[in-house]
Amino acid sequence: MIFRKHVNGIKLDLSKAAAGRGAVPMSIPGQVGISLRQYGGASCRPLVRKGDRVYVGQLIGDDPSDRLCVPVHSSVSGAVAGIVRRTGASGGTFEEIVIDPDGMQTPCPDLCPPQISDVESFIAAARASGAAGMGGSGIPLVSKLTPPVKPYILIINGAESEPYLTCDQMAMLDGTADILDGMRCIMRWMDIHRAIIAVGADKRDAAARLSEMTAQQPNISVFLLRDSYPQGAEHVIVGEALGREAVPGIPVLENGVLMLNCTTVMKFNQYLRTGMPVVSRCITVDGDLIDSPRNVEVPIGARVRDVIDFCGGDPSAAGKILLGGVMTGVCAASADESVSKTDRAVLVFSPLFAGKLRETACIHCGRCVRACSAQLSPHLLLEACRKGDLKAARKLGARFCIACGACSYACPARRPLADTIIRAKAELERAYSKDRGEEAKL
Ligand code: SF4
Ligand code: SF4
Repeated sequence: MIFRKHVNGIKLDLSKAAAGRGAVPMSIPGQVGISLRQYGGASCRPLVRKGDRVYVGQLIGDDPSDRLCVPVHSSVSGAVAGIVRRTGASGGTFEEIVIDPDGMQTPCPDLCPPQISDVESFIAAARASGAAGMGGSGIPLVSKLTPPVKPYILIINGAESEPYLTCDQMAMLDGTADILDGMRCIMRWMDIHRAIIAVGADKRDAAARLSEMTAQQPNISVFLLRDSYPQGAEHVIVGEALGREAVPGIPVLENGVLMLNCTTVMKFNQYLRTGMPVVSRCITVDGDLIDSPRNVEVPIGARVRDVIDFCGGDPSAAGKILLGGVMTGVCAASADESVSKTDRAVLVFSPLFAGKLRETACIHCGRCVRACSAQLSPHLLLEACRKGDLKAARKLGARFCIACGACSYACPARRPLADTIIRAKAELERAYSKDRGEEAKL
């Protein structure tokens, strides 16, 4: 018997125009720019120089001394045009390896499937695959597979509960065998005996296929999540699928639950099978400026403008370009940004949808409170943050915010709840890492 634990949330209009459209491979663009920073602040060191010839799957950036660094591989064959410093959507800077493709897509001759004979070689394979949380977290797979506590259960996250996004759904439909083989491999080497695949309520086709293919495996079950947002947050899935309470924003791995995104596991198994590391990913291209929404398998590093162009859109007409979903994605600083391993979508909207919303006074309706799955009081947090009172924000639990955006969506007064709370949380984290003592005083 699986219990459901009640959690707050909101109902979203899950319009997903690209649903059911298998991923079409993107044509090789005129140039790619592969970021050396795929996760947080951890950057790789470049392993190539201007003028070097590179092949598909060749390791071009790494830093083995940093466990949070995700190795990067060339997604095209061609010549390195240079290494440039760029500013990302969040304002941070990073280095990018710019490659001019030769159009041949010659695979790196050194590639071969890894030989796994023990836990060490399994962990080495996870790192060499270049896999990182492809559901948007970007957490290196290898860091999840070397947890502080031995996991007792594996949960595959196939929630994908934001509108527009359908790339995980395609992974579960088209990459079912890879997901299941990847799960078995992880379970074997991590000594885990039970697994659950948590599938979003709107993806009954994927749930049916997975159930059919796991019918003979009593230790793997498929769980259909309830129809609310956010479904994909770790604490929500643990509450729903295991009937256990989990603290929002605290990795469930610390309590013995290994949760991995379905696309991450699929890509990892593709590496185990073929030796080809993560050099491309499926993204959903949609928005009112895209005539034909679809899923596209894009080379990592493809420029956003080339992706839009491939789907028949005009980037110069866009009022807003989102990398990721409408609830948790970030606005691209320009169409010259490139797709990373964690980007699930490129959503292109006309200026009509890009205007600033006019904020009005709080009417104390409580909708933001009911929307928050982290059980926070967003209206009170907003007031504290606006006063610059970080001490109060901390007491109100800002650090447990999972940045889902549900409160802002629910607010009839259009108050910028999520943005403000997320910024306060980042400030608290900065204070914490800068000086533990200072944070403790707050
Ligand atoms: S963004 Fe943060 S405060 Fe707002 S609903 Fe999500 S978890 Fe709650
Ligand atoms: S939803 Fe908006 S108006 Fe309602 S209590 Fe929250 S902040 Fe105030």
